[in-house]
Amino acid sequence: MTRYEHRAARRQDLEHRKGDVKEKARYSDVVPALNLSFDMGDECPFCHGLTLMPCADGKWFFCDACKRKGDMIDLVCEAERCAMPRAVQFMETIITSRRDARTRDLFGQNGKEGGA
Ligand SMILES: [Zn+2]
Repeated sequence: MTRYEHRAARRQDLEHRKGDVKEKARYSDVVPALNLSFDMGDECPFCHGLTLMPCADGKWFFCDACKRKGDMIDLVCEAERCAMPRAVQFMETIITSRRDARTRDLFGQNGKEGGA
């Protein structure tokens, strides 16, 4: 495999993972994991108003103040100030820990009420 082919294969793999996290990650899982305020209302990473809300089954976000919208990858990139590959990795971690958290909830070690 040439270096070029290797790079192309990695890019294809990333596109595949990106599609996978876009399908699986939901607003209700992603927002609490970000470095944002979400107690009094969800903080928009663009304008910092507490006006962020989910739409389209939680696959997209919308901000009522600055009217920004996008998918969960856009949201993670802005909130964590990272590029897309890092956002994909971040969301893979969220999806994995969501599975683990459900297991923990069964044993009452996670103080939070079961997520929406
Ligand atoms: Zn906003």
